Amino acid sequence: MSEPQQANDRSGRPAGAFITEYSKPLPHPSPFSKPYWEAARAHEFKLQQCGKCGKFIYYPRPRCQHCLSDQLEWKKCSGRGTVYSYTVAHYAPTPAFKEIPFVLAIVDLEEGPRMTTNIVAPPDKIKIGMPVKVFFDDVTPECTLVKFEPA
Ligand SMILES: [Zn+2]
Repeated sequence: MSEPQQANDRSGRPAGAFITEYSKPLPHPSPFSKPYWEAARAHEFKLQQCGKCGKFIYYPRPRCQHCLSDQLEWKKCSGRGTVYSYTVAHYAPTPAFKEIPFVLAIVDLEEGPRMTTNIVAPPDKIKIGMPVKVFFDDVTPECTLVKFEPA
């Protein structure tokens, strides 16, 4: 029998432990989004930046949504933003989402794009306009999800 381990992250799981059966949907990286997911796995938050107009882009895509240039580069970003809007889910849409309530949010990233995400915090602690920062949730050995928490 092993000693109880202390959780080292926001997931509540023991240090180094993955969820044994993660039943929520997982991403299927495309050739365009693969660098985003590889960066997340390395606990880095990267976005595409346009080499022509300089704007950052989210979600990953083959061309800049502002000027249509295909000169996009992956850049490490701050992982900071503010809450644009959010909602609290009190009912699980499927049995996989049994950990309720959870917060679905739209975050205005410091670099410009808006990102749909989860904010992991008690719902009554979340306010529109509040600062948030990214963290990385290793849900399987192969997959890390990008989530946010109060900054
Ligand atoms: Zn551009």
